[in-house]
Amino acid sequence: MSASIIDGKAIAADLRSRLRHAVTTLKTAHGQAPTLAVVLVGDDPASQVYVRNKARQSEEVGMGSIEHRLGQDTKQDVLVALVRTLNADPEVDGILVQLPLPAHIDEATIIEEIDPAKDVDGLTEASAGRLVLGKPGLRPCTPTGCVILARQVLGDLGGKSCVIVGRSILVGKPAAFLFLEQNSTVTIAHSRTRDLPALCRRADILVAAVGRAQMIKGSWIKPGATVIDVGINRIDAPERGAGKTRLVGDVDYDQASAIAGAITPVPGGVGPMTIACLLRNTVLAACARRGWPQPEDI
Ligand code: NDP
Repeated sequence: MSASIIDGKAIAADLRSRLRHAVTTLKTAHGQAPTLAVVLVGDDPASQVYVRNKARQSEEVGMGSIEHRLGQDTKQDVLVALVRTLNADPEVDGILVQLPLPAHIDEATIIEEIDPAKDVDGLTEASAGRLVLGKPGLRPCTPTGCVILARQVLGDLGGKSCVIVGRSILVGKPAAFLFLEQNSTVTIAHSRTRDLPALCRRADILVAAVGRAQMIKGSWIKPGATVIDVGINRIDAPERGAGKTRLVGDVDYDQASAIAGAITPVPGGVGPMTIACLLRNTVLAACARRGWPQPEDI
């Protein structure tokens, strides 16, 4: 048996095209487009690429895009002041502060400054509380992408056994509550979990968010399971030439794809969904803040 590949690129492109349609409809009806403000502090090369992609994709779906680039030595109170200005700006619907921030800035303090109504990353305590309480709110992007991908394969996730390996605030914990919201039966595993392979083998849906290259082996997968690999790890790839590297997930893809029913590749699986879900959150935030009816098909 060979697993079907869950094409995150195509599924994200489809979501963006529905967002483009929704944004056009909102613009026609209200004369304004949802607007995302992205703040980048410092010169981390990966963050620069992410911010550029976020701005480009916002514009591609017709949304407003504002970028603030601050120097590496920006003081914390300057960043706080900028976030407060964006909170108060009626034209701004979503605020994303690109992480990681330079070491002299306390990330938690900055995240808490973001108005929960504009928290399109879903990382404030208010957003996390709403998720846990089952109340409407903005959900974190990467785990939302995982749910969309699993639903694409399985449809209704109700009653499915879902094992999430990883309990970070960014991915594992919110993923657990999002799959619970879908009525899956959720187990969260972590570095102290006993007999992880046996636990994983019980999963209809296995979500790997560990950050360890190819840790999850084929023999850990239940035959026919849906495998969502969040991990992004860079490993040496001497087969590509001296000094070359390549990206792999937390799952041993070659082994797992012989056993699973469906699997996300790395790259091209969960990754593309993250920005698409950020754009979706910006549209949802705009509708909630401005009292516009929420588009149905996003
Ligand atoms: P963290 O390092 O914050 O969390 C890793 C989790 O994995 C922890 O809960 C840890 O357990 C658990 N863990 C570590 N080792 C083991 C082990 N041997 N067995 C079982 N569990 C283990 O990582 P993130 O959640 O932020 O990210 C996870 C991965 O996802 C990374 O590769 C990251 O690059 C990627 N990522 C991808 C995104 C995308 O858009 N595709 C977005 C965000 C992240 P414990 O809590 O006990 O220490």
